[in-house]
Amino acid sequence: MANPQEYIRNLTPYVPGKPIEELQREFGIQNVTKLASNENAVGPSPLALAAIVRELAELHRYPEGSAPTLVSELAAFLQVDPSNVVLGNGSDELIKLILQAFCPRNGVVVSSEHGFLMYKVFAGGFGIRCAEPPLAQNYRYDLRAVGAVAKESGAHAVFLANPSNPTGTTFTQTELLRFCEDVGPDLLLIIDEAYYEYVEMDDAVDSLTLLRNRPNTVILRTFSKAYGLAGLRVGYGITSSEIANYINRIRTPFNINRLAQVGATAALGDKEHLAQVLEVNRAGKIQITRGLRELGLNFADSQTNFYLVDLNRPAGPVYEALLRMGLIVRPMTAYGFPCHIRITVGQPAENARVLSALRAVLAE
Ligand SMILES: *Cc1c(COP(=O)(O)O)cnc(C)c1O
Repeated sequence: MANPQEYIRNLTPYVPGKPIEELQREFGIQNVTKLASNENAVGPSPLALAAIVRELAELHRYPEGSAPTLVSELAAFLQVDPSNVVLGNGSDELIKLILQAFCPRNGVVVSSEHGFLMYKVFAGGFGIRCAEPPLAQNYRYDLRAVGAVAKESGAHAVFLANPSNPTGTTFTQTELLRFCEDVGPDLLLIIDEAYYEYVEMDDAVDSLTLLRNRPNTVILRTFSKAYGLAGLRVGYGITSSEIANYINRIRTPFNINRLAQVGATAALGDKEHLAQVLEVNRAGKIQITRGLRELGLNFADSQTNFYLVDLNRPAGPVYEALLRMGLIVRPMTAYGFPCHIRITVGQPAENARVLSALRAVLAE
């Protein structure tokens, strides 16, 4: 038997939200509602689907390795130079490439307790330690603690998700600028904005402006959430051309496949669809927060398409009972919340179904 690296042996594999097909197989339930992976309630843009169908006959050809059309459309959309854009097979791949390019084995990166798991999972895969200072009040990042840990550990990078997942909470531009002053210009800062499009708040982070003054910054965004293309796997980074250049040296040549290139390009142009997605989400948030309050449940403030809900009891049995009723939500034990679940905002009927199922299960 081949021996893995010591740090690989100790890794715990990431467990994604349960797929609909798996629940159908296991329980023989046909009518399954999945509100577990922060997927888009509306679905993909019809323009993206049409572009993908048109591209199908070309599948015997390799795609263009640098996805020039998608890159230049993104650059125009973001008002940056194409050399500032780097594409990943999901933004997850970019997290991995950043670690690989900029952090040595036995190095340290900093994220946060109850933060997005992929930072820790990928760091572990390179033998990099991920320090996780505790959250502050109301499930929000404690940026002062993050800065202090980054400085005292000599961290090679800091990963901040804004909004964060699984909490849904944000920091403000004022807090971010104070943090940047605190840690200085040389620390590599990754701002993961997977839910960027959903944010509606005062003093919201303006990361593109920050990037202009602070080149050691990578902004991560994705087509997986508000653009409804999680299955296509396209994420992108916006950063200095130097950093983009290093990441491009180590990515797989065809990491954005043909269908993904045309689908994401079309989705980016479909402003109407995005507006509809955001409208459905706004309404869904009202419906879900009202329902949770009626159930007497506390939840974190959210600037996303999901809610972290405190069940005030071990969440495992509740999760299992919901599964038997055909509902998939996300248990949060792996994120350090054994009494919480995360519920993705769905269509009105899906939201109603999860609320009434929760009511029934909690009353048992
Ligand atoms: C969903 C998510 C991502 C990654 O999504 P991809 O599908 O890999 O683009 C990255 N960061 C956070 C915080 C997320 O929730």
